[in-house]
Amino acid sequence: MPELPEMEAWRRALNDPVSAFPIERAGPAHIATLKTFDPPLRELEGRRFAGAERRAKRLLFPTDDGELVVIIHLMSAGRVRYLAAGEAGPKTPAFRLGFQGGGQLVLTERGAKKRAGVWILTPEAAEQELAHLGPEALGLGPERLGEILDGDSRRLHSLLRDQRLIAGIGRAWANEILHTAKLSPYAMSGGLTPGQVQELADAIDSELERGLELRERGAKDAKVYRVHNRLQEPCHVCGTSIERVDFEEHTIYYCPDCQTGGRVLKDRRMSRLLR
Ligand SMILES: [Zn+2]
Repeated sequence: MPELPEMEAWRRALNDPVSAFPIERAGPAHIATLKTFDPPLRELEGRRFAGAERRAKRLLFPTDDGELVVIIHLMSAGRVRYLAAGEAGPKTPAFRLGFQGGGQLVLTERGAKKRAGVWILTPEAAEQELAHLGPEALGLGPERLGEILDGDSRRLHSLLRDQRLIAGIGRAWANEILHTAKLSPYAMSGGLTPGQVQELADAIDSELERGLELRERGAKDAKVYRVHNRLQEPCHVCGTSIERVDFEEHTIYYCPDCQTGGRVLKDRRMSRLLR
């Protein structure tokens, strides 16, 4: 699933093209993709976007008259692209906006399951839709992070991914951040020293900024991730083989030497089944 660095890179790339011309034709939209019916899709026609914004892993496109906001959530398999006039696009996009001048914003989704979503809302309804989200991960800082960590007793990997507490981090960047902070994915949120909280706050910023910079240059996963999806490859810091463990619905990657004092973490999904 695209996370904060990926979504922010897309936001920056989309900001100018989506606001260059008014929308000429809104739709088609796959019935499972468009999550709202009032205001209707055609209400967008003739309006112009003020630009592209982002909140957590969602893209927001407010109209410049302040009356409507389009929210796009890509989930794991959705992709959004701006096609210049004349550029060939997908035959059956999940969602499409055609602009005057011939450009298009298209949302596609791999696989049969349609999980990505598009919402057309008033600004008030959009605010409600996003109200459950915690503060943005980038720039959170040690004080705010410390309060969040103390407010919940959870394993760090799980807490970092909880969008209600911290917005924008998913499983891939949780792996990268915890590795840089030299913290175990299973460490309990309330048990960190002030120094470890500081290191975690620094790692959140440095890793998300590193990811954003690489994604803006078009880098693919293999170049961006140093720990995530790198089972048995040498750790880029110490050379130890990266390990993998299943936890809840997720697969966690980590370096035993850098993060867990050499211990190999127990698979918490399997051990439950075997008990
Ligand atoms: Zn290491």
